Amino acid sequence: MEYVSTRGSAPVLDFEGATLAGLASDGGLYLPREWPRFTEAQIRDLRGKSYAELAACIMAPFVAGSLSDDELSALCEAVYGDFGHSAVTPLVQLDETHWLLELFHGPTLAFKDVALQMLGHLFETFLERRDKRLTIVGATSGDTGSAAINAVAGRDRTEIFMLHPAGRVSEVQRRQMTTVRAPNVHNIAIKGSFDDAQRHVKRMFADPTINQALNLGAVNSINWARLMAQVVYYFHSALQLGAPDRKIAYSVPTGNFGDVFAGYVAAQMGLSIERLIVATNVNDILHRALSKGDYSTGATTPTITPSMDIQVSSNFERLLFDCGGRDGAALAAQMDSFDKSQSMQLTDEQRKGAAGLFSSTRADQDETARALQWANRNAAQVIDPHTGVGLHASLSAIEAGQVAHDTPVVTLATAHPAKFPDAVERAIGVRPTLPSRVGDLFGREEHFTELAGDYETSRDFVFEHAAASAG
Ligand SMILES: *Cc1c(COP(=O)(O)O)cnc(C)c1O
Repeated sequence: MEYVSTRGSAPVLDFEGATLAGLASDGGLYLPREWPRFTEAQIRDLRGKSYAELAACIMAPFVAGSLSDDELSALCEAVYGDFGHSAVTPLVQLDETHWLLELFHGPTLAFKDVALQMLGHLFETFLERRDKRLTIVGATSGDTGSAAINAVAGRDRTEIFMLHPAGRVSEVQRRQMTTVRAPNVHNIAIKGSFDDAQRHVKRMFADPTINQALNLGAVNSINWARLMAQVVYYFHSALQLGAPDRKIAYSVPTGNFGDVFAGYVAAQMGLSIERLIVATNVNDILHRALSKGDYSTGATTPTITPSMDIQVSSNFERLLFDCGGRDGAALAAQMDSFDKSQSMQLTDEQRKGAAGLFSSTRADQDETARALQWANRNAAQVIDPHTGVGLHASLSAIEAGQVAHDTPVVTLATAHPAKFPDAVERAIGVRPTLPSRVGDLFGREEHFTELAGDYETSRDFVFEHAAASAG
């Protein structure tokens, strides 16, 4: 499979190249040149496969030319054959319409493990093959950081630098990053918001001096391989609920538009998805973009769903490219003007393309808390606040008649409730406890460096420490 940049001028790469590059050299994001398409009969044949077997079938067209079928099957078995839950991503029924898709059974209790455990193995395979080292630089609003660190800690060929906004991630999230003791792991707390951290990371990728010297790699959802791995659980859940003979709606709590874009990919591949409901908190740039065509940033408001406290949604660019006629030059101009003014209008083509599959809802703090109460009262489920934002959107979509009455509505449960115990306790009076697989998180020593919020300080820190460890 060939991969092209959304901005049209970076070199075309194969899967291995796109995985190691992360961001494209023209500032764009890589996407497959075309969507592989499964027929209904082929999708029916996927029923009954284990998660690992299904993952290999779904990923095969995307990795063609870079991994053999045997290599891919072995990787999928290594990652998903022994996950925290035997079903990997189990479905839980809430009532006759609503389901939860539990994505938090990996080592760091959020959905990001499902893809990042795979990405860690892919990095290792490709770096061995090339006899190279990779310096991973990432920004995290909490969950990417811990999942990425867990996926590469102690590995020989990767060094990881993870920037998080100081004081704006939960204590469990912070400890899951900072208590990992491995020589290749560097945690940095910067003064500022997640968007500041993400801007620094993007700038490092765009800076040839540091990018080439350190061979930078990305673990944020700008890395295509992550989205590819997330496509699998849409198929896995839809097949259980009757696909391809029945349509399914998904509600996805969204920040960087990665998880829900994977649902869009599943639909392009032929999966019977009736609707993708984009669920945001009060940082609602995606809700405004999808409902009014207005993609403009404001100040980031801290909420009880910190993993979605995002104003600039990196992966939205992939949708704009795909829905807007795949015109890289036009999109590069549109994104350039957005970078300068922090505001843009979607074209009619982009709006129309998105409206066919997406709708959106925004949940404030009270609505989120009420969704947690609904799940607890009606289905005896304790859910995390991010999942609550998604469930609020599912309930609203049914109320507003946006989904056919016999369509199952699946809310993606993106984190374990014990990752955000204070918010959960305030909403329902129950304090969720950490599952034993995370170990003694509160007894271990933390290691991180606090840095000022400017770009140069972060860049210099990465440069000095990566160079030192490369010898
Ligand atoms: C990262 C994250 C999200 C948002 O996912 P995106 O792919 O950025 O849209 C939602 N919920 C939780 C718990 C997360 O960690």
